[in-house]
Amino acid sequence: MTTGIQSKLPEVGTTIFTTMSALANEHKAINLGQGFPDYDMPEELMSLVNKAMHDGFNQYVPTQGYLPLREAISQKVLSLYNASVNPDTDITITPGGTYAIYTALTTVLKPGDEVIVFQPCYDSYIPNIVLNGATPVFVDLSFPDYRIDWEEVKNKITPRTRMIMLNSPHNPTGTVLYPEDLQQLAAIVQDTSILILSDEVYEHLIFDEIPHQSVLRIPELRERSFVCFSFGKLYHCTGWKLGYCIAPAELMSEFRKVHQFNCFSCHSPSQVALAAYLQDPSTYNSLGKMMQGKRDHFAGLMQSSRFDPLPSHGSYFQLYRYNRISEENDVEFCKRITREYGVAAIPVSVFYQQSTDHGVIRFCFAKRETTLEEAASRLQRI
Ligand code: PMP
Ligand code: GLN
Repeated sequence: MTTGIQSKLPEVGTTIFTTMSALANEHKAINLGQGFPDYDMPEELMSLVNKAMHDGFNQYVPTQGYLPLREAISQKVLSLYNASVNPDTDITITPGGTYAIYTALTTVLKPGDEVIVFQPCYDSYIPNIVLNGATPVFVDLSFPDYRIDWEEVKNKITPRTRMIMLNSPHNPTGTVLYPEDLQQLAAIVQDTSILILSDEVYEHLIFDEIPHQSVLRIPELRERSFVCFSFGKLYHCTGWKLGYCIAPAELMSEFRKVHQFNCFSCHSPSQVALAAYLQDPSTYNSLGKMMQGKRDHFAGLMQSSRFDPLPSHGSYFQLYRYNRISEENDVEFCKRITREYGVAAIPVSVFYQQSTDHGVIRFCFAKRETTLEEAASRLQRI
């Protein structure tokens, strides 16, 4: 039988994260590729989930999410960004940040729409846009500082531009947005109906005392934005796949129409646990410092290697150049060091549509100190 199926994503294969993690497992390499912590998540949060199950929170919660959790998020956003977000109408709990992004794009995009995307970008964005029949319009971040050229953004806007996608702190580069970036963006979208999708899954993983520039801070941006977050990133449990989206009521009511026929509602006991755990701001306010310690520890060890770091101000990641070591392309280089030296990394070219290769690779430093030490000692031998 021929199924006659025509791929909706003919150019897409297996993601680099799956490929590099499989290679790392095969060679028993230390996996600094795919972004996930190898240390434990908070014990108290685990106990709270357990308690919620025993307390009988094992059936569906409402499609928009467990109300006390939405209320806790609303409080958090008010205290951090001075943004008043209605828990009834403006917040939906989702199975992860990736799903929130996909749902927001699916809610809005129609065939023929254009979406401005900054490259390099997280790997799900482009397939998500293409699946909805829309067209990604690329703006390359400047190399090697990975900043946005807002003049270029202005020039790429057409009557078909439906959305602009942002991500800060940024995967894969570890750069962050500054107040002037948001001001420029606000000036560009003023008097247009362009929407914003802001991926802020690393909101608390920001270093060097830099304040996170959430689009929620700016009313003119907030009124046109879907803002996506991840509890997996927040509390070191990426496998939980739980997150949320914040958007103004008009946008959120459409988002919920898509969500209710796709996921309907997310894991209940985790939501009950998070509603309690989120009450204490110290559970997230100290994360930036903690992760900065890991960045600095790894960077200190890497000083005696032939890898050269690019600055990282946030996320799980730091980019390193390897031009003092090899002229191989970044994919080959990552595969070889996994096989021969037992450390996996992610080649940055895969985050570009046209595989732009600057000879830069991404290491994830969200690991135990001992893991970073062993990885660095292997990398020093290269
Ligand atoms: N956006 C970016 C930039 C990410 O790195 C991730 C992490 N995978 C996500 C979104 C999605 O997070 P989640 O695992 O909650 O889907
Ligand atoms: N966000 C993680 C990364 O960039 C990976 C998530 C995934 O495997 N899809 O490494």
